[in-house]
Amino acid sequence: MTEPKSHGRKSIRPTLKPRDLMAEPVHLAGVWTARIITLFPQAFPGVLGESLTGKALKDGLWQLDTIDLRTHGIGRHRNVDDTPAGGGAGMVLRPDVLGAAIDEAQATARGAWPLVYLSPRGARFDQQMARRLARADGITMICGRFEGVDQRVLDHYGVEEVSLGDFVLTGGEIAAQAMIDATVRLLPGVLGNAASTEEESFSDGLLEHPQYTRPAEWQGRTIPDVLMSGHHGEIAKWRRAMSEEITRERRPDLWSARGSRSPGD
Ligand code: SAH
Repeated sequence: MTEPKSHGRKSIRPTLKPRDLMAEPVHLAGVWTARIITLFPQAFPGVLGESLTGKALKDGLWQLDTIDLRTHGIGRHRNVDDTPAGGGAGMVLRPDVLGAAIDEAQATARGAWPLVYLSPRGARFDQQMARRLARADGITMICGRFEGVDQRVLDHYGVEEVSLGDFVLTGGEIAAQAMIDATVRLLPGVLGNAASTEEESFSDGLLEHPQYTRPAEWQGRTIPDVLMSGHHGEIAKWRRAMSEEITRERRPDLWSARGSRSPGD
């Protein structure tokens, strides 16, 4: 068996459903927009096309644009990368190619519009950053591949580097989708029940209390009595105490940072 020479193209068979969600060329003014620079536009909306984020996308509560980095590639083969200056393994995305894609992305950016490169060297993404991004008008996200991008692009455009966590992915697309998901669910109207973002983990610097549902007994385990008591004051007190206990035990870093947070952060 011989391996096919080109791996990339033949596997590109986007399913109809996700493409349909993005086929809308019209831009809804004032709608939070994620603009993604990627070599793999067919990876979007991906999981964002499902469930609440997918419904919100269809309903126009947010919008998604992809910019195919390949279309800015050089020459007949639309090259986007080259070998690292100074030697070493892998390939680096070229600044001229990426720069052209960024120019395209930013040409229609309006208002507060962060320009972000997903990168393991970036500031760690967290709920506070999701809240900041949700307050912006949109965002441009650069998904790296291979060894990453030429440093000059980051310097020239003053790109903000953001990391999903202390591990290395093969590309920025999964990180972008995780960050968009966390941000979009904070946009007004996306979660049916707005109160649910106010009580969940990190909303006040605490992890969430345990949750239970029917049946009342399962495998000999029961639901804590207080939750079945109907006494809302006691229930709120219990939930708060559990939140504090879990946070203290599992995340001493969050627990000790609590005093220094400002409300709404
Ligand atoms: N050589 C780079 C890693 C490149 S990984 C380094 O050592 O820092 C290839 C691409 O995956 C990166 O350009 C980036 O866009 C993305 N990526 C990898 N890990 C990531 C993380 N933790 N958070 C966000 N993006 C990440």
